[in-house]
Amino acid sequence: MPQKKKPEEIPAFAYRRGSLYAGPIALETLARRFGTPLYVYRWEAIAAAYGAYEAALAGQPHLICAAVKANGNLALLQRLARLGSGFDIVSGGELQRVRRAGGDPGKVVFSGVGKTAAEMDAALAAGILLFNVESEGELELLAARAAAARRRARFGLRVNPNIAAATHPHISTGLRRHKFGLETAAAVALYRRAAGFSWLEAAGISFHIGSQILDPEPFGAALDRILKIVDKLPARPRWLDIGGGLGIAYREGERAPSIAAYLTPLRRRLAGAGFTLLLEPGRRLLAPAGVLLTRALYRKRNGGREFLIVDAGHNDLIRPVLYDAYHRILPARRPKPGARARPVDVVGPVCETADFFARDRRLPPVAPGELLAILDAGAYGYVLASNYNARPRPAEVLVAGGRARLIRRRETIDDLLRLERQVRSA
Ligand SMILES: *Cc1c(COP(=O)(O)O)cnc(C)c1O
Repeated sequence: MPQKKKPEEIPAFAYRRGSLYAGPIALETLARRFGTPLYVYRWEAIAAAYGAYEAALAGQPHLICAAVKANGNLALLQRLARLGSGFDIVSGGELQRVRRAGGDPGKVVFSGVGKTAAEMDAALAAGILLFNVESEGELELLAARAAAARRRARFGLRVNPNIAAATHPHISTGLRRHKFGLETAAAVALYRRAAGFSWLEAAGISFHIGSQILDPEPFGAALDRILKIVDKLPARPRWLDIGGGLGIAYREGERAPSIAAYLTPLRRRLAGAGFTLLLEPGRRLLAPAGVLLTRALYRKRNGGREFLIVDAGHNDLIRPVLYDAYHRILPARRPKPGARARPVDVVGPVCETADFFARDRRLPPVAPGELLAILDAGAYGYVLASNYNARPRPAEVLVAGGRARLIRRRETIDDLLRLERQVRSA
């Protein structure tokens, strides 16, 4: 029997007959039809990654709560909800997104250090699964809002396991000096205190140690710390939330653990422990399934450096600037064999020196008008886009079942100006 390919190994985009394709559709076709810059997602890649999480957890009670902040497009949330996914939200706005997309509020986990009373009220009214509480003040406010609404609030405590995970400092969250989570002693004390609030139900414990983590070890270390804390709690919580954070291979030759390699050791530690596992994957689920398409505008040399100026800017994809992130860049038309690669800076039109996608990147010659795909842009891409320089944000297209559909139209200048009012001078 031929070995079945693991479901997560479906590449979202691949060269066929010399051109880059999303399933049966050439990216050049999409760029012509919808314009550039353009985000393109491949549904089958998301579904396969979701399937890999499910497969790795077979037999272990669990709920996958996709992190809305990684990519909140309604069409994607709707399809994830249909697969049975729950959602990890970090704001009242994200709760609205989940509800619009037909997501089940009973599968929603609310994370974040700064929940407001209004956000708590909305989440209580919706009947979400769990509030992940990160401070004593937050627990007190939740108790008050739940009492006022006469609704039970299930909560879990987010513990800061003080575990260092090798990642960019801006996306590391699990150290004591970070703003996230509760220290161990505080968490235990708070769990005890919660028994005194009649509308609160202590139901979970959680950690999330950062993002783009490529070594499975810190997850295991964090879980061990959490399990030690659980032993000190007055009652055993049902939900054990291990957050998100699994990284992907952004660079050529970089290795990321498979979803199974990440989950199997955690599962082993939890075997027979009786928890229902919660997971909050964002990047691993969504990033590899998306590209940002951009067209080359000009080439120029300055001070001995070679610049390739493209029509997308760092307002469309800010990760290279914000996190020193590396994104592979592929020409939509496969370079001829033997084409000499030369180092170039791939930059956008925005008036900022920080407006770049790559520096000293060895690329084959790219002529003005050629299309480029910036890979792994399906998470923390569109959601971080802005209108800086009065640039309308790109459109988003979903390729699913061999069809391409517009899931967000390109913004217009009217969209940008709609909220502004001119005032007459006195
Ligand atoms: C951002 C975030 C996630 C998702 O993280 P990824 O690294 O994208 O998997 C999950 N849980 C919480 C609490 C988060 O803040």
